Amino acid sequence: MGFQLEYRTRPIEMERFRRTYQDRERFLACCRECPRYEARWSCPPLSFDVDDFLAPYAWANLLCARIFLDDGTIRAADTPEKMKTMGWNIVSQVKFELEERLREMEERVPGSLSLSSGGCHRCDPCAREAGQPCRQPDQMRYSLDAFGFDLTAITQDLFGIEILWCRERLPDYFTLIHGILSAAPVPGEVWEAAGLGDGKTTDAGGKGA
Ligand code: SF4
Repeated sequence: MGFQLEYRTRPIEMERFRRTYQDRERFLACCRECPRYEARWSCPPLSFDVDDFLAPYAWANLLCARIFLDDGTIRAADTPEKMKTMGWNIVSQVKFELEERLREMEERVPGSLSLSSGGCHRCDPCAREAGQPCRQPDQMRYSLDAFGFDLTAITQDLFGIEILWCRERLPDYFTLIHGILSAAPVPGEVWEAAGLGDGKTTDAGGKGA
């Protein structure tokens, strides 16, 4: 059982990115229905002013990772419980690896900051549940969702990809959107050096399921 990864990258000016794809009121209403709301520091409500936080960054350099599942993996997930467990194992493995690589990229792009997909799962439970500060603030990265960005529209408009969901079976692919905020567009060679170049595919067979 395994999967294959495909990466695509797109830089977009922060002003256009926010004007076109950010709707905090609409998407934070969805977040309030999520069990991670107020329970993880990576998730809403954020403990700082979002405008101030994003102000230093003129560019959002987006990374779309598509995780293509092989037929054996899809067939093996033949119960709702297996679908949930196997889907989560694959997605969380890729998410964790992308976070690591993007944190490493921050060192090659001065003044940059990476963003992740979904909530942080580095600790269980998150220290926020006990009203304690984040235990790994140097490792934790906020998700794009937490800022009220429309991930479905971003995925469709900027990458030409439709997000698929689990229905009666695992989907043919999962999609993750990460990013790195910076003062200038991140050059293609920096993405390449991180193994995340636009159009790159990698075989991750066996590790995710
Ligand atoms: S690193 Fe730990 S304490 Fe910090 S947000 Fe993530 S789960 Fe919570």
